[in-house]
Amino acid sequence: MSTHLVLVINCGSSSLKFSLMDPQSGVSELDGEAERLCSDTAQVCFEYQGDKSCTALTGTLLTGKADHQAAVNAIVERIHELNLAESIDCVGHRVVHGGEHYSDPVRITPEVKAAIVDLAKLAPLHNTAHAIGIEATQAAFPHLPQVAVFDTAFHQTMPDYVYLYGLPYKLYREHGIRRYGFHGTSHDFVSRRAAGLLGKPREKIQLITAHLGSGCSVAAVAYGKCVDTSMGLTPQEGLMMGTRSGDVDPTLVFHLVEQLGYELADVKTLLTEQSGLLGISELSNDCRELEAAAVEGNKQATLALEVFCYRIARNIAAVSVGLTQLDALVFTGGIGENSAYIREKVVGHLAILHLALDIEKNQDCCIGKEGEGAERRISTKNAPACLVIPTNEEWVIAEQAEALVQASS
Ligand code: ADP
Repeated sequence: MSTHLVLVINCGSSSLKFSLMDPQSGVSELDGEAERLCSDTAQVCFEYQGDKSCTALTGTLLTGKADHQAAVNAIVERIHELNLAESIDCVGHRVVHGGEHYSDPVRITPEVKAAIVDLAKLAPLHNTAHAIGIEATQAAFPHLPQVAVFDTAFHQTMPDYVYLYGLPYKLYREHGIRRYGFHGTSHDFVSRRAAGLLGKPREKIQLITAHLGSGCSVAAVAYGKCVDTSMGLTPQEGLMMGTRSGDVDPTLVFHLVEQLGYELADVKTLLTEQSGLLGISELSNDCRELEAAAVEGNKQATLALEVFCYRIARNIAAVSVGLTQLDALVFTGGIGENSAYIREKVVGHLAILHLALDIEKNQDCCIGKEGEGAERRISTKNAPACLVIPTNEEWVIAEQAEALVQASS
């Protein structure tokens, strides 16, 4: 076992994923997830040397709640039980919103913590949870350096004519209202791996990366730098997602409120939690379930998947204007890595970019078949490459946190 491990913490609004990882190899010694935080059914699950175990999470003495603090307490306890604490070099925190301040990972100082809290105005659920996770981990490991790795950082290379909205400039100048982009660590990771797979330096290739999970975004990456992406001020813009609408006409909000009598808070819930695959199918936000229902003949499930795929293709075509050539389209995320059906439909809409799949190779990537999880090319010989590359955001966070700490010690 490596004696240089990084504790990676990823706090969501009601979950906390973590991994104790060797940043060199990407191998995790201990990992797991706390789910349904602050509810009666909160639990924490661990995986250690192939064994998985879950236990109910009990409330903290201070708040009585099974919250993020309780999750960190349970994880720290497990780390000590397994005598792994001595091997930890530093802690890397995934932080969703870094605004314009951060285009690289940073050591967490009181100023950085204050900036993360301040940016909660742009990502209320996420940045608030990150701040709690940081406090709790600092209290548990006061001697360890802590690093923030931002989802927005990779997109900070977008030019101003790409990131500005067609709104009064003072909204940008005074309030930072602009497009930021998210899933940056994933787009960064798979674009690096794609270069390896293509056997070319990243500085010589132009890619579009499609991260398709419960949240979805695409990015145009030219010579290793992001030049456009589909998400904007918040992770709501762009592609349709599991429960998020993606792009809609913004005046829809007025229509719902003024004509249909919605409360503003209900519009927010509708756009973020009741739309997307779930909204159209009226069945599920889970792509796998919808594919199964479509096979059974469920027309709304089929329609939801068709809208989803068309919108992915439309956004891929849109960000392609940031490139001068396309060396590869990369699929990643739970859907991008596992769904041959979605990949085939998306690429089917992209003849304009001369993309074409090798149908058999595309199917080979499906879960349960040989080569599961592997990085591979699924396009025909003469077309631009289409690649499947499993993402590993934890590994990027571990690598970047370790590199920063080593460089400054
Ligand atoms: P998160 O953003 O929560 O990390 P994931 O990247 O794990 O999400 O992606 C979750 C999505 O991946 C779900 O919609 C799930 O149905 C889908 N998915 C996972 N495996 C498959 C599969 N074999 N076929 C189709 N979709 C799949």
